[in-house]
Amino acid sequence: MRLSRYFLPTLKEAPSDAQIVSHQLMLRAGMIKQEAAGIYAWLPLGLRVLNRIEQIVREEQERAGAVELLMPTLQLADLWRESGRYDAYGPEMLRITDRHERELLYGPTNEEMVTDIFRGFVKSYKQLPLNLFHIQWKFRDERRPRFGVMRGREFLMKDAYSFDIDEASARKAYNRMFAAYLNTFARMGLKAVPMRADTGPIGGDLSHEFIVLADTGESQVFCDKRLVEMAPPGNDVDWNDLQSVFDERTALYAATEEMHDAGAFEAGTPEENRLTARGIEVGHIFYFGTKYSAPMKAKVAGPDGKDTEVHMGSYGVGVSRLLGAIIEASHDEGGIIWPDAVAPFDVVVINLRVSDEGVNAACEEAVAKLEASGKDVLYDDTDERPGGKFATADLIGVPWQLTIGPKGLADGVVELKRRATGEKQTVPLAQALEIIG
Ligand code: ATP
Ligand code: MG
Ligand code: MG
Ligand code: MG
Repeated sequence: MRLSRYFLPTLKEAPSDAQIVSHQLMLRAGMIKQEAAGIYAWLPLGLRVLNRIEQIVREEQERAGAVELLMPTLQLADLWRESGRYDAYGPEMLRITDRHERELLYGPTNEEMVTDIFRGFVKSYKQLPLNLFHIQWKFRDERRPRFGVMRGREFLMKDAYSFDIDEASARKAYNRMFAAYLNTFARMGLKAVPMRADTGPIGGDLSHEFIVLADTGESQVFCDKRLVEMAPPGNDVDWNDLQSVFDERTALYAATEEMHDAGAFEAGTPEENRLTARGIEVGHIFYFGTKYSAPMKAKVAGPDGKDTEVHMGSYGVGVSRLLGAIIEASHDEGGIIWPDAVAPFDVVVINLRVSDEGVNAACEEAVAKLEASGKDVLYDDTDERPGGKFATADLIGVPWQLTIGPKGLADGVVELKRRATGEKQTVPLAQALEIIG
């Protein structure tokens, strides 16, 4: 991608109403533009990162056995009347009326709709277990939309819904999502800690939030420090028996403010391991049994031929919120530092003198070779001054910066900089390409 033909509207300064660093940097890096309170246009650079995060979430859901579908954003109010949530949900729900005076809503979550799909097609326990997920825009008319994509009104969520014949099987489904979430966040370079959580308006009796520790987080959390450094379970696990993965983590204390029990925290956690911190909720999983299947009559024939209400769980990831969380965890004075797995581009090639044919040719050769090896390349072929080019490259946080100019070329070398460490190497192009990998 040539920067001269791209759309990267960077800002010298962040608007003063952006209070936290991730919001400031997303605006400055030309990733998003606010269209209304809590409603954003995703500009090309922001969209690239959003897509990469979405893809990691999708791959880990599929690995855990979940099946993707896509439900609409608009839902009928009558469906929500079946569960009793239409009136209960309150002002966070955006209610809409169509030309026929039919009551609709912009979905804040999809328990009712997925239960309706399930009951329409699944009639036997033999079709279970089943886990259906989608990655779709949600709308919640938040009282205080703020912090950019962190608390939007329109936001992208991955939500999965599991259906099982009984509680024992539903708990296995819960554990699969529990493990999948640990792997998902780790792939993005995040340390997300599962914490016992309140079930809120979704309801139910077993629930964990996945929390990324950050001073700007909106939740107060309490946990055993050892959980923060615990490695994810990885892919080499038995997806039908993840009880030990669950037990190992839930044996250590971790709770959000609503569930916190100071006495239990002090009794069960040595003082040097007690951590009281702020955190960002990036995921939330629930087991809620027959809360929706009972009123909505989602039943299957069991092995004995009798109809049984299915046991359900739901599992959310804040896909768009994750951009904010990753930036909060990974930035410096110069700008964003994207972990490789979610970076919008792998490499930026910086041309220091676009008026020089030799430099242009060397840059184009570098871009072609990088692209041939599968890299996403941003080629800064603009006529901006070198200082401005370096500042932009740092700001947008691309993991590798490959700088080519007339002086280096005369000596047969280029400069390679790793954004995360600032480490620079002056080496021949071939060697730089090898280092990038
Ligand atoms: P919060 O406590 O931040 O309001 P929630 O508990 O209401 O979130 P859930 O219903 O658990 O949210 O939704 C699943 C996930 O969706 C959350 O863990 C979070 O990552 C994301 N999410 C929820 N609300 C928003 C929002 N307004 N903007 C961006 N992401 C959100
Ligand atoms: Mg909320
Ligand atoms: Mg919450
Ligand atoms: Mg939640």
